Amino acid sequence: MPIAHVTGAAQGIGKAIALRLAKDGHDIAVSDLSIKSEDLELTRKSIEDLGVRAVALTGDVTDPESVHNLVTDTADQLGALNIMVANAGVAQTKALLDVTPDEYDRVHAVNGRGVFLTYTEAARQMIKQGTGGKIIGASSIAGHKGFPLLGIYSSSKFGVRALTQAAAQEWAEHGITVNAYCPGIVDTHMWVEVDRDLGAINNVEKGESMKAMAAGITLGRVSTGEDVAAYVSFLAGPDSDYMTGQSNLIDGGMLFV
Ligand code: NAD
Repeated sequence: MPIAHVTGAAQGIGKAIALRLAKDGHDIAVSDLSIKSEDLELTRKSIEDLGVRAVALTGDVTDPESVHNLVTDTADQLGALNIMVANAGVAQTKALLDVTPDEYDRVHAVNGRGVFLTYTEAARQMIKQGTGGKIIGASSIAGHKGFPLLGIYSSSKFGVRALTQAAAQEWAEHGITVNAYCPGIVDTHMWVEVDRDLGAINNVEKGESMKAMAAGITLGRVSTGEDVAAYVSFLAGPDSDYMTGQSNLIDGGMLFV
């Protein structure tokens, strides 16, 4: 079975993706920041309990050397890298007029530079192997529409779509497909933060901002990590072989493009 690496897998969507790919039978390397080591080890253990090999690696996706090591350590310890999921990301909820240049850089460092480094290091490894592969990135509904108070986050997620399109065209000759997933509102720690910060800006109670956003979901509920992971399972598997450069919505029907 192909071997997968999932970044930002200590919690949330990344953890759900790692567990789903393990259920699909893949050996998995999971990674996250070193401050998340304990949670990451829990993810690793849960993967191993599913009967596949699991490796936990720490690293920061904004750092080139770190990302290089995540990729080579995966190949060294599990034998190859066939599927890379560039999932790690950060949110920011703030009016554009209040965002500082440093805050802009911090969000784009993880969501933009981090995805660029993860895509390119994975591609280098896959090209070296001569095996082809599947590279998958985290965009968002905010990669299709710029949301107020999420302007910097939105611009970073639009960037993931552009990178995904360009990478798909550059690496097709190596048998590598590149696609991204665009969730809507997923009930993870990230949304706890977004809800808290929107609530503070708009002066509404905890939970109310999420409820207001969720009211616009056609399927009538917010997403779970497993909803997103099921789509990533498709992107990681052979049924998506004739698909590349796409950043599709998996949002319960929030946007229609
Ligand atoms: P989360 O905050 O629960 O988890 C993100 C993980 O990424 C964390 O474990 C964090 O430690 C890790 N991370 C952050 N910066 C990192 C870095 N520099 N290097 C390595 N790891 C780092 O978020 P989530 O909701 O699980 O989101 C996962 C991805 O999905 C993100 O890219 C996010 O933007 C995207 N997304 C989330 C939602 C949502 O509603 N939750 C919607 C659309 C897109």
